[in-house]
Amino acid sequence: MKISEIFYSIQGEGRLTGVPSVFIRTFGCNLKCKWCDTIYEKWYSDWQDIPIDRIINSINKYPTKYVAITGGEPMLSEEIQELTCSLASLGKHITIETSGTIPPRGGLKCSLASISPKLSNSIPDNPELAKLHNQKRINIDYIREWIDKYEYQLKFVICDENDIIEIQNIISNIKRKIPPEKILLMPEGIVNNNKQGNYIVEFCKKHGYSYCNRLHIDLFGNKRGT
Ligand code: SF4
Repeated sequence: MKISEIFYSIQGEGRLTGVPSVFIRTFGCNLKCKWCDTIYEKWYSDWQDIPIDRIINSINKYPTKYVAITGGEPMLSEEIQELTCSLASLGKHITIETSGTIPPRGGLKCSLASISPKLSNSIPDNPELAKLHNQKRINIDYIREWIDKYEYQLKFVICDENDIIEIQNIISNIKRKIPPEKILLMPEGIVNNNKQGNYIVEFCKKHGYSYCNRLHIDLFGNKRGT
C-alpha cells in the first residue's frame, strides 16, 4: 500500500479532538485544493510501498485503539478495504478522512467517516487544474452513500462569510436529515485565526453547527508528523 507516513499523535479536528490516535497517511490525491497545493507536494510527494501486515505491526505498538486513515485521499488506494478489515478484526476504531469524491466500496469498515466536501474556495488559480478539480470536488450521490452507511461528520473549510450559502445548498441537496452538530465549520489556514473564527462562531450559534478548531496546530504548529 502506498503510504506517505504513519505516526502517533492526538486527533486535532472533529468530534474525536484530543483522542490519542495513530495516523496512516496514504499517498496521492484526486483533488488539487488551492490551499493545500504547496504542503501536499512538499511534504507528501515521497511514499513507501508497505504491505498491510507491516502497517498493522507498526500500529500495534501504540497504546490506542483509535486509528485515523487520512491522505491525500485514502479511498484512492486499492488496498483500503483490506486494511480496514484487518484493523476492524483487531477491534480498532477507524476514522476515514475523505473528501467524499469516491464512494465507499462494499466491505469497507469505518467507525467514523470524516467527510470534507470541498467548496468553491478550494478551486486552484491555474485554469487547467481548476477544471479538473471542479469536475470532481463535489459528488452529492457519493456523500449520501457515505452518510447512509456509516457514522459520520461533515467538515467544511471556511474562507469567508459567503461559504455558508454554498454549505447550505450542499446540505439541502443531500436530502437527508443531518443533525446540525454533525456539520463542522473549520477556518481555513495553517495558523488558527481568531478573527475569522468570530464570524464562524456566530454561524454555529445561529444554525447549530459545530465549530472545528485545529488542536494540533495550536499545540505543535504546522509540522509534519503531528
Ligand atoms: S483533498 Fe485534501 S489532500 Fe487533497 S488537495 Fe484537497 S486538501 Fe489537499
